[in-house]
Amino acid sequence: MAKQWQGVISEYIDRLDIDKNTPIITLGEGGTPLVHAPALAKLVGAQDVWLKVEGMNPTGSFKDRGMTMAVTKAVAHGAKAVICASTGNTSASAAAYAAKAGIKSVVLIPEGKITLGKLAQAIAHKAVILQVRGNFDDCLVLARDLSENYAVHLVNSVNPDRLEGQKTASFEVFDYLGFAPDYHVMPVGNAGNYSAYFKGYKELQRDGFISTLPKQLGFQAAGSAPFVAGHPIANPETIATAIRIGNPASWDLAINAREESNGEFDSVTDEEILSMHRYLSNEIGVFVEPSSATGAAGLLKFAKAGKVPSDAKIVITVTGHGLKDVGWALKDENGEEVKPTSCSKDASEVADLLGLEKN
Ligand SMILES: *Cc1c(COP(=O)(O)O)cnc(C)c1O
Repeated sequence: MAKQWQGVISEYIDRLDIDKNTPIITLGEGGTPLVHAPALAKLVGAQDVWLKVEGMNPTGSFKDRGMTMAVTKAVAHGAKAVICASTGNTSASAAAYAAKAGIKSVVLIPEGKITLGKLAQAIAHKAVILQVRGNFDDCLVLARDLSENYAVHLVNSVNPDRLEGQKTASFEVFDYLGFAPDYHVMPVGNAGNYSAYFKGYKELQRDGFISTLPKQLGFQAAGSAPFVAGHPIANPETIATAIRIGNPASWDLAINAREESNGEFDSVTDEEILSMHRYLSNEIGVFVEPSSATGAAGLLKFAKAGKVPSDAKIVITVTGHGLKDVGWALKDENGEEVKPTSCSKDASEVADLLGLEKN
């Protein structure tokens, strides 16, 4: 039988906080490609750049790494229902893992701010979907309140099981490269992922696999950048809906991760995000949702400021799949809708149209 990746819990069971006899709820998450991107390395003037393509997870984002752990533990504790607040990807993931587990999922989404692809996923996996008249931060307060007072298990990244599962991405980077990168770059919303990577690298250091921690560079959207401002933002605005978060849940963990890793937080504009979103699909062949391009956009900003050493080895996590939010891809750089060119069935006419030379 061909070897198949077993999902992050089975693959890393010895390094996770879980009883070995716990029945595992998995969809085969993790084991995502680390794509070498020499063109991007050249663009930012670094020695090597790899993209950790988290859109290749079962529901199309890194959230699955944490969700397998959170739902596995919820079920082990007898939970019959899970709840989350979500900008979209957490709900898609929670709904899928709850479906696999045969339990109910409830998702709280901010009114009008979730992409159609993600909503379709939650519906497909039969989540109970409530659209809250408020933003993501309001949804999270409500989800916490309900889980504290009613029989429903919270699976947002404030649940430590989520970060425990997500730290496996650092293990995969090290296992694949055989070393830790000098910089690890990613988008930051609630900063759960930023904190989880740090946890993973810290454990690799503790266990003697690596000596130096990667500097973690976390980038936010300019209209939604509480870590840059140094305080929560009341009305975050950005087209990057997955990181449209004004009051990050993992604030203290993230501040610690930045300090200990010698990292930085900074922001990029929506224009910079969309431009990098296009570059990654046009020039690298990796199609991500706009939010997911935020890390690479930030790295390019750092490069322009002369902040990327020429010998640097860099991993950028691209967090979610492009098919989740296709609207931006369907427009050209001027915002005009791109339409396929109509043509006849005649080969010579089509060859003319394509400017092909005859052989
Ligand atoms: C959740 C998410 C983020 C932000 O991750 P945090 O852990 O909230 O910082 C970024 N990109 C995508 C695609 C996401 O789904």
